[in-house]
Amino acid sequence: MAQCQFGAVFYSSSLSKVYINPAKCYGCGVCRPACPTDAVELIPREEDPAAANLWLKGAYG
Ligand code: SF4
Repeated sequence: MAQCQFGAVFYSSSLSKVYINPAKCYGCGVCRPACPTDAVELIPREEDPAAANLWLKGAYG
């Protein structure tokens, strides 16, 4: 989790899982090779309409 310089990766102690906040994620891919279970997959924002504009909203609005 320390690999994300944008603070997009967080741990839910109540669910015992690690999550990525798409509003903070810049898609740099640094976390992908750091994941010991190979659970991180990068998906183009165009393929996820619900997240397509989150980065712009997070950065500018
Ligand atoms: S892809 Fe980059 S910005 Fe997104 S969660 Fe991973 S390290 Fe953070």
